[in-house]
This record gives sequence, C-alpha cells and structure tokens, in this order.
Amino acid sequence: MAQTQQDVLNASKEQCLFCKIVSGEIPAAQIYEDNKVFAFLDINPVNAGHTLVVPKEHYIVLPQLPDDLATHLIKVVKYLSGAIFEMTGAHGVNIYQNNGAAAGQEVPHVHFHIIPRRQGDQAIGEWKRNKVDPEQLKQIAGEMSKNLKPISSTVKLSSSKAVSKTKAKPKRKGKPVKLTKKRKV
Ligand code: AMP
Ligand code: ZN
Repeated sequence: MAQTQQDVLNASKEQCLFCKIVSGEIPAAQIYEDNKVFAFLDINPVNAGHTLVVPKEHYIVLPQLPDDLATHLIKVVKYLSGAIFEMTGAHGVNIYQNNGAAAGQEVPHVHFHIIPRRQGDQAIGEWKRNKVDPEQLKQIAGEMSKNLKPISSTVKLSSSKAVSKTKAKPKRKGKPVKLTKKRKV
C-alpha cells in the first residue's frame, strides 16, 4: 500500500524526541512557548545560549510546513535571535536549519538552531567551497528557475527515506543540478 505524507509523519511522530520534549514527557531547559512554537536550550551547546526552536506540531523537514506555521516559526526565530544576541552579549548569531540526514539532521522534527557567536571563537568549522565559472552559474540558475513551482505549493514527502541514514536515490523529475569545479591554474 502506498504511504501517504500523513502515514510517514504519524510513524515518525511516535518515536520523536522533540515531540516528547514539547509534551513534557522528556524534560528540557525551556526558554519560550506559545500556542504553536516551543524553544529550549540545546543539550550539547556549541556556545552558551545555543537554542532550538521547534513547531509544536510534528513535521520532519521545513518544506512540509504549512505556510502560516512556517511564517510564525520564522517570526519567533527572528525575535529570539535578537533577544539571545542581546542577552548573551554575542558578537554575532548563526541560524542553522538542517533538513535530512545527509544535511546533518539528527532529530527528524523541524528545528532551527540559534547559536550566539563571539569573534574568533572558531565554534563552527568553515564550509568547503568551490570555485565555479560565472557562465556555469548562469546556466545552473536558468535550470533551477525553470523548474521552480509556484511559491504556494508545499513539498510532499513520499517516503521515510528523507531522514534515513542509508543511501537512497531521491525520486525527482528533471536532471539534478551539478557543479563542475573550475580547474586550478
Ligand atoms: P540536528 O543535528 O540539526 O538534528 O540537531 C539536533 C540537536 O538536538 C543537536 O544539536 C543535539 O545536541 C540536540 N539535542 C538532542 N537531544 C536533546 C535533548 N534531549 N534536549 C535538548 N537538545 C537535544
Ligand atoms: Zn516530533
């Protein structure tokens, strides 16, 4: 039988650590709550004040969120990032949001990390970046914009593989966009 988006969500909800934190079944250091959103301190903080902001309702990845919930969640992230910046006397703040195991998501319940940073704290490693030909960038942008659906359409998660650590070929239409690295001269 084909799994629906709701089947996938229900199955992952039963085991979900952050749903258990939201319901109070598992304790957490809560800093904010409203009727849709919950925020608490990360148990293994990158820096003091490292906060996680989650929707109370269970969704695995950001593109699954209904627009009104996504809007409210971002509003709370904006508010808390400013407050945490002030409270911790940070020099800067990172907002991270991982979607899928391949992107480093360990807990399959949508969450934003708010991480206060100090100049030179080296708390987070540098990104591995590529040099790419500007013409190739234009070509990639053309392909990507051609494939964009209307902004109101939400992504349907067809399989629990989105959060699995095993390698799975995503079912997508169209060619995947790839970078050809510029040769060093
Ligand atoms: P991610 O890798 O983006 O899925 O981040 C998950 C985060 O959840 C990690 O930074 C963990 O340290 C954090 N975490 C895991 N368990 C707990 C917990 N019981 N309370 C608070 N934070 C947690
Ligand atoms: Zn959950």
